[in-house]
Amino acid sequence: MDLPGFSLDLAALEETKRPDPQETYDLLILGGGPAALAAAVYAARKMLKVVLITRDFGGQVGDTSVVENYLGFQTITGQELVNRFVEHVKKFEVPVAEGETIAEVRKDDGLFGVLLESGSAYSARTVIAALGKRHRKLVVDCHCRTSVAGLFGAGDITTVPYDQIVISAGEGAKAALSAYDFMVRQGML
Ligand SMILES: Cc1cc2nc3c(=O)[nH]c(=O)nc-3n(C[C@H](O)[C@H](O)[C@H](O)COP(=O)(O)OP(=O)(O)OC[C@H]3O[C@@H](n4cnc5c(N)ncnc54)[C@H](O)[C@@H]3O)c2cc1C
Repeated sequence: MDLPGFSLDLAALEETKRPDPQETYDLLILGGGPAALAAAVYAARKMLKVVLITRDFGGQVGDTSVVENYLGFQTITGQELVNRFVEHVKKFEVPVAEGETIAEVRKDDGLFGVLLESGSAYSARTVIAALGKRHRKLVVDCHCRTSVAGLFGAGDITTVPYDQIVISAGEGAKAALSAYDFMVRQGML
């Protein structure tokens, strides 16, 4: 019996969606560590049009041989934890610009523009910076707000004490919810 032609590209199912530079997004999440990845999950759950831009997935967690006492895991390797984070984010089909280095973040006429070293640029109503501790510290309040309206900070980049995975992930989730509240209050959603 002849079957109708059908093929399923399993490799493509594993791919993340690429973002569209022509689109104006609700939220750009900068970074690929626990703060950024948690923000991506929470933003997607709020149905925000969101993009994650990062050099790599996992951040410092990928450089950690063994993580102890991350809630739910007494002991887990850093790489295994990163794999689980990424698997979780991919379930929400968040578009990702991976392997990109962010060169500049600007705000003009109420919109943020994020320029990449590759020459691409993305725009959005809000931004979460979750770029780790190698950057100048961002001062944030308890809602992850910075002094720039619509710019939020999460994880080791912020003045929040204790550089830990669970704290970064929690702050990332909080930053996404704060960005959502900000857009609701501003009538942007
Ligand atoms: C060796 C080591 C062991 C550790 N062990 C533990 C542990 O056992 N338990 C624990 O809780 N914590 C541990 N930590 C700390 C923990 O890993 C960090 O607190 C946590 O990863 C911070 O998360 P983050 O998302 O804020 O930043 P990061 O994990 O630093 O992620 C920052 C992200 O931003 C990206 N990025 C930065 N600049 C740019 C740019 N210009 N363009 C594009 N992307 C950019 C990076 O590529 C990265 O993806 C350890 C850290 C290290 C280094």
